[in-house]
Amino acid sequence: MDGSRQPQTPPVLILLGPPGAGKGTQARMLEEQFGLVQLSTGDLLRAAVASGSDAGKAAKAVMEAGDLVSDDIVISILRDRLSAPDCTKGVILDGFPRTTAQAEALDKMLSETDQQIDAAILLEVDDVKMVVRIAGRFTCGACGEGYHDTFKTPRIADTCDSCGAQQMTRRADDNAKTVMSRLDAYHEQTAPLIAYYKEKGVLRRVDAMGEIAAIKDAIGALTKSVVA
Ligand code: AMP
Repeated sequence: MDGSRQPQTPPVLILLGPPGAGKGTQARMLEEQFGLVQLSTGDLLRAAVASGSDAGKAAKAVMEAGDLVSDDIVISILRDRLSAPDCTKGVILDGFPRTTAQAEALDKMLSETDQQIDAAILLEVDDVKMVVRIAGRFTCGACGEGYHDTFKTPRIADTCDSCGAQQMTRRADDNAKTVMSRLDAYHEQTAPLIAYYKEKGVLRRVDAMGEIAAIKDAIGALTKSVVA
């Protein structure tokens, strides 16, 4: 890869970083700002669990334990989603790939459509603080807007600032015990992807410990420079 992008192919961005780093929050902002589509394998798997599909049944206990769902299941779910028509606008991968096998499968999928990875953006955070971040977070079940007990409370208690719904939800795996397993899984299986994407010349690093708005600006500038 020579680093230049094919202007006719839809942009592909990857957000890398441990659980709680803010990948989902930032992906949603990039979606709005650049018209890209957020593809979260965590969201796709939670939908599969809720639907009671075979993949969902296989994934449920694994997710509750904070372990990684098998590559076969995740790659197949991602492949289906990536082939949907809206993805021709360009995608932000949030939570995928998480293993080297997934990264290699992604390379193969993209090569089939002459696409390439424009940037793998690593959200750099302090692990110890991630447990606090995750344990306090909740989401509007209607529109997906994210909140936090300490860092981002809704203006009116239990009411979404964005859509006005009163359907706040907390993820079953956002508890201190599961978070430790999720951090272990990140270090053992996902962190090697930092070297993988560095080697390909697409790794970009962003300090993700500050204010959400400042991180958004940094990622926005970076995205603009690679997708323009
Ligand atoms: P997330 O919403 O990205 O934090 O993912 C929640 C959970 O879904 C993870 O702890 C894993 O159990 C599972 N999961 C999400 N994405 C993947 C993936 N790419 N590979 C394996 N498991 C995944």
